[in-house]
Amino acid sequence: MARTAELLDGLRHALGPGGVLDGDSDLARYARDWSGDHVGAPLAVLRPSSTEAVREIVRRCAGAGVPLVPQGGHTGLVAGATPSEDGRELVVSLERMNRIRRIDALDFSMVAEAGCILADVKAAAAEEELFFPLTLGAQGSCQIGGNIATNAGGLNVLRYGMTRELVLGLEVVLPNGDLLEDLRSLRKNNTGYDLKQLFIGSEGTLGIVTAAALRLFPRPTRRETVLLGCPSLGDVIRLFGRARRELGDLVSAFELMTRAGVAAALEGGGQEPFTPPTPAYVILEASTSARVDLRAAVEGFLADAMAAGLVENGAMAESEAQAASFWRLREALIEWQVRQGRHLRSDVALPISLLPAFLAAAETAVRSLDPGLVLHAFGHVGDGNLHLNVMPPAGLADAAAEALLARCEEVVFDQVDAFGGTISAEHGIGRKKRRPFEARLSPPARALSLALRAHLDPAAMMSPGRLFDTPVRPGLAAGEAGG
Ligand SMILES: Cc1cc2nc3c(=O)[nH]c(=O)nc-3n(C[C@H](O)[C@H](O)[C@H](O)COP(=O)(O)OP(=O)(O)OC[C@H]3O[C@@H](n4cnc5c(N)ncnc54)[C@H](O)[C@@H]3O)c2cc1C
Repeated sequence: MARTAELLDGLRHALGPGGVLDGDSDLARYARDWSGDHVGAPLAVLRPSSTEAVREIVRRCAGAGVPLVPQGGHTGLVAGATPSEDGRELVVSLERMNRIRRIDALDFSMVAEAGCILADVKAAAAEEELFFPLTLGAQGSCQIGGNIATNAGGLNVLRYGMTRELVLGLEVVLPNGDLLEDLRSLRKNNTGYDLKQLFIGSEGTLGIVTAAALRLFPRPTRRETVLLGCPSLGDVIRLFGRARRELGDLVSAFELMTRAGVAAALEGGGQEPFTPPTPAYVILEASTSARVDLRAAVEGFLADAMAAGLVENGAMAESEAQAASFWRLREALIEWQVRQGRHLRSDVALPISLLPAFLAAAETAVRSLDPGLVLHAFGHVGDGNLHLNVMPPAGLADAAAEALLARCEEVVFDQVDAFGGTISAEHGIGRKKRRPFEARLSPPARALSLALRAHLDPAAMMSPGRLFDTPVRPGLAAGEAGG
């Protein structure tokens, strides 16, 4: 206790005003994640405002044997950034490191600090007529450091790739306080291991990202958004193949919603998109900065797809407001799910061609547990990535619902294995999916992962228990157990 108090006093002095929060009221929003499903008890919250301050925190915590967990916008859904419940972990919030250090319009790149909100990064790029393509529902709250640590995906992956493909360089504070720094914006660099890739998707277990060089693109000046009603999920998949071939890289988003999803979204208000309703819906977005007749290309594609029977009904947005109303439908579905309270969230990915068969098998498996369970599948079907969420039957007591949802997750993941998929394509592992993740790792992959982790952080002081069951071993100072 005395040692912890001494550590916090030292940090208060080192970080200056606002650098350490430890009053009850201050801590609430750092303790609870966006979903409200995960609530921890931070020892205190540290708010560094420079890379040097992050190094100071890491060194002092390693010396005092106090574990820490980096936190961005706390929108992650797997309890990665949520502090443990035992009140032992310090939260390192990057929120005060929120400067755009530079934008280079000729180089199509930007250097942003880890605590920049994603929407602000996008806005800063737009001011220079450039585009940072990462787009997700949480972009008003999540931070670029969190996006990098989770290798976030989102709506535009099929055109621009995951966060991994949008990072040119990183600045990272290692668990021993060393700084790994390469913020060059090189597109090509074949000199040795590409170390930055280690940290992208490492969920705060290998270091704290403090800044990143990001890849920018020309800002799309033409955009067409269409809402389509399709006869079946199989037709949606065939439609996607056709869109990829006929529209090529003009396709920037291809999102699926089912009939049940649209009906749920409309519970909060809004108009039925098509009469009669269709079994499946797609939001397709095509965009470009090139001087091509995008509207003619999309209209031609749609006419052919309708003639082929892949689309029953369609609406092409005539204004930005109408395009936003299509996307609003998708957001309303997520809001509806949040209103249902605790439910199973998943972010699985499968080979695209197997999605219809997988969904049918998963639905049968889930319903066999309890016919009252309700499945909602939606998501980035152009990447083979589905959010397959399950609502418990109404009126079930909390503990019973919890146990049933845990069984649901098992049977869904069994089907994911059977169809050659992955249990997480976006949200990552955190603490929540650690067991199913570890159970699926091959022995060599597990050994290599743990060796890397132990080399960088032998005492497991940084994000202990995330990804792997790595208990804190304060006796081992960072850097000593390597090799
Ligand atoms: C409405 C909604 C929609 C979403 N849609 C998508 C989607 O389409 N695609 C998708 O991929 N995800 C999505 N997510 C999940 C979430 O937004 C992403 O995982 C996001 O990248 C998390 O960023 P964050 O700043 O909130 O990170 P946090 O939740 O704060 O942290 C996430 C993880 O990263 C670590 N971390 C955070 N900052 C750093 C840092 N600077 N250095 C090292 N480690 C760090 C944390 O310790 C934790 O393990 C969605 C979430 C919500 C609530």
